Amino acid sequence: LLQVEHLEKSYGDVHILHDINLTVPTGSVTVLLGPSGSGKSTLIRCLNGLEDFQSGQLTFSGQPVTPSPKTWQQLRQKIGMVFQSYDLFPNLTVLDNILLGPLKVQHRAKVEAKAQAIKLLEEVGLADYQAAYPRQLSGGQKQRIAIVRALALNPEFMLFDEVTASLDPEMVRGVLEVMRNLAKQKMTMLVVTHEMNFAREIADQVIFLEDGHILERTPGKQFFAQPQTERAQLFLNSMD
Ligand code: ATP
Ligand code: MG
Repeated sequence: LLQVEHLEKSYGDVHILHDINLTVPTGSVTVLLGPSGSGKSTLIRCLNGLEDFQSGQLTFSGQPVTPSPKTWQQLRQKIGMVFQSYDLFPNLTVLDNILLGPLKVQHRAKVEAKAQAIKLLEEVGLADYQAAYPRQLSGGQKQRIAIVRALALNPEFMLFDEVTASLDPEMVRGVLEVMRNLAKQKMTMLVVTHEMNFAREIADQVIFLEDGHILERTPGKQFFAQPQTERAQLFLNSMD
């Protein structure tokens, strides 16, 4: 579904990502691992047009991506993204947060969009919270709403950047469950996570990044049994 070739990214004089090459096949889960500061978030943001990059080629659904505001505006409807901080609009109810994109960006019919929103809320166990405001929700609930909000645009591809990192431990499980179900439904996903058990469970492919270089692109099972590089093994040991 997504192909990245020879991507290079700098901030000013600082070269952050070096010759990034990867493929995310349709219907599969790719987990992006690497130490803090290795460039995981930067890479994810380049794939969503939130960061520009100096050179390299992205291909989405077989179509070369020519970066421009208009291209990204269209692509962002197909590429959903959820971050560590769930930036829900505080002055809108849960339902209105979810409906904003489908109604204002996609100009869909309200009846249809609302029916889908409610179905998605049921799937994440939050059907009773349609009329609630974000401040009335726990962190885990807000994060599940943020995922629903992204899914309400019917994306083909989902990017997750440490979506459980700022949650209390007891909140983590419910959010991971939602992601696990998405993987089961064959959503194409690129996931950054520090939850190693979860990563082991869902990764079809692991990409290991260090200092902005990809050190490994390895099938998930193989990576967690025996990564190809000593560096990745050290990383895994440090996560136990
Ligand atoms: P973490 O696991 O801590 O989230 P990460 O792998 O996501 O780390 P990035 O946030 O992508 O790492 O950062 C990669 C490098 O890019 C770091 O050295 C960081 O200091 C630098 N960096 C990130 N954002 C900027 C920015 N806006 N301007 C300059 N440098 C930046
Ligand atoms: Mg990060």
